[in-house]
Amino acid sequence: MTRDGQREATRRHRAPKPPKHLADLTPGERDLWAEDLGLPRMRARQVARHYFARLEREAAAMTDLPAEGREQLVARLLPELLTEVTRRTADGGATIKALYRLFDSAALETVLMGYPGRVTLCVSSQAGCAMACPFCATGRDGLRRNLSSAEMVEQARLAAALTAGGGLGPDVPRRLSNVVFMGMGEPLANYRAVMTAVRAMTAPAPAGLGLSARNLTISTCGLTPGIDRLAGEGLAVRLALSLHAPDDEARDRLVPINRRYGVQATIAAAHRYFQATGRRVSIEYALIRDVNDQAWRASLLAERLLQYGRGWVHVNPIPLNPVPGSIWTASRPAAQEEFRRRLEMAGLTVTMRDTRGQEIDGACGQLAAREVDN
Ligand code: SAH
Repeated sequence: MTRDGQREATRRHRAPKPPKHLADLTPGERDLWAEDLGLPRMRARQVARHYFARLEREAAAMTDLPAEGREQLVARLLPELLTEVTRRTADGGATIKALYRLFDSAALETVLMGYPGRVTLCVSSQAGCAMACPFCATGRDGLRRNLSSAEMVEQARLAAALTAGGGLGPDVPRRLSNVVFMGMGEPLANYRAVMTAVRAMTAPAPAGLGLSARNLTISTCGLTPGIDRLAGEGLAVRLALSLHAPDDEARDRLVPINRRYGVQATIAAAHRYFQATGRRVSIEYALIRDVNDQAWRASLLAERLLQYGRGWVHVNPIPLNPVPGSIWTASRPAAQEEFRRRLEMAGLTVTMRDTRGQEIDGACGQLAAREVDN
């Protein structure tokens, strides 16, 4: 282990844990917890129904619980985990970025995006991140701690409640449909908690939030053992791989974990994920001017992806959202166009990712980072 790794491990070890919450547990464990607290088993189920099916955590609204002790019961099973600090909107109200404070004053952010046919929430899996990708705002301050499962589920519960209340405006469905683990943190570095959260998000109500696993995306910078482990879970979640370069020279710099798991090994793991699950893998590629946006890199990217054939992958280039103080900036439009053209000519499907909420620092840890800087 490197010295940084040791420091990181010590810090994580010492970090106090967020209070235990129903959403940290499987339905069977919830019953046992109620019993341990000296309550009838059905209490855990009643509270879970309010939380997951009605998106409610106000004790006063849970009138089927005995009035006596109701407040204490709810405070115990559904402790407050996220306190909203700021909320900013863009795109005519259809994009909402929220910054939350956690029990230990760590911060996390979410971005909720409403479209005519779907509502997508970008969730965080860690407070900070240890991966240190130099173009990403979250990576600059390192990892503070892993989030608990319930801290992840609660991000989705709050967003689902806001969506159900019509908070994204009239042109958007009133149901949260998609969750992408593309907020702060590396989800595969917090593997167990992320899996528990995924299960709570996808279990049918009232045991869970009832989202479709097919509409969940786990985005990773390429922890290949984690990708293989995920492939064995029997879940239909989508995998996004943050590749950002087709060659080790550029990727070593952009995504430092590449020095351990190189480009070819990472693409191979992504392809194994496709083989195991049948889900098409998304390749994320932030286009950075004169760093990774050359036409020859588009051709090399196509060659390396197509060594496994055509239908298994699609590419999502996104112009870099520049981080304040960084020397890097977004590619020129002509370079973006040429990059896309080369990929398409080679036979890949390409979707230029939209840059929702850019004016509210909608991308990639920027709001939380700014808050920490101030
Ligand atoms: N750690 C995970 C998920 C979090 S980041 C991962 O690496 O995939 C979600 C996506 O945003 C990743 O593709 C990441 O590389 C990208 N990203 C981070 N900072 C960015 C920036 N400044 N501009 C564009 N994309 C960025």
